[in-house]
Amino acid sequence: MSDREYNVVLLGAPGAGKGTQAKMLSDQLAVPHISTGDILRGAVAEGTELGAKAKGYMDRGELVPDDLVIAIAGERLAQDDCARGFVLDGFPRTVPQAEALGRAMDELGREPLLVVNLAVEEDEIVRRLSGRRLCRDCDGIFHIDDEGVTDGGPCPDPDCEGELYQRSDDRPEAIRERLAVYREQTEPLIDYYSKRGVLVDVPGEGSPDEIAERLLPAVRDRS
Ligand code: ADP
Repeated sequence: MSDREYNVVLLGAPGAGKGTQAKMLSDQLAVPHISTGDILRGAVAEGTELGAKAKGYMDRGELVPDDLVIAIAGERLAQDDCARGFVLDGFPRTVPQAEALGRAMDELGREPLLVVNLAVEEDEIVRRLSGRRLCRDCDGIFHIDDEGVTDGGPCPDPDCEGELYQRSDDRPEAIRERLAVYREQTEPLIDYYSKRGVLVDVPGEGSPDEIAERLLPAVRDRS
């Protein structure tokens, strides 16, 4: 295995496919997938103090305050399994979060980040989010238009057949709010990282496998 670091950040609107791509990329690079959204949803499901603080913001489609998210991400990135890199999904989402990440990487003496912007048109984003269904057992991500996926039906993976559900923030009002928050607070990061020369654009249209085939070489060639 190479000793190169793959310090990857996936940027993109909600529904751009960050979660799906981050999972595949982390398998391919053999580095952990770190999703602040998953960590926060886990905390809500377990009923921890963090979960109680985060739940209201998440259900409304708002961002959880920077100090909370920065603490969670900082703790996770300092763990041993991140020493050869990571695929960050959903962090940073604001300029103060990006600044905190930069400081943490410096303090840990790490190689520079590689930031990938997964670009997708807004109509497609709304279609993807409103049709998204997740499996409670295998963590699979599906779309209501996919073969074998029905509302209330089981996971289409025959080895799983777990319960499918819709995220509470994938309802229309919350989707609109998340997109507005994305444009105001997260989109400026495209400029922030582009000025630092670490941004690469990858078109996020097409099937998950097609996108993955563009993403892996973009990361391997630049890291
Ligand atoms: P998506 O990218 O589909 O919106 P995520 O799973 O990344 O979903 O995040 C879900 C929710 O968790 C966000 O809407 C927000 O409330 C919260 N969250 C996740 N990451 C962050 C972050 N870096 N900063 C603030 N809030 C966050």
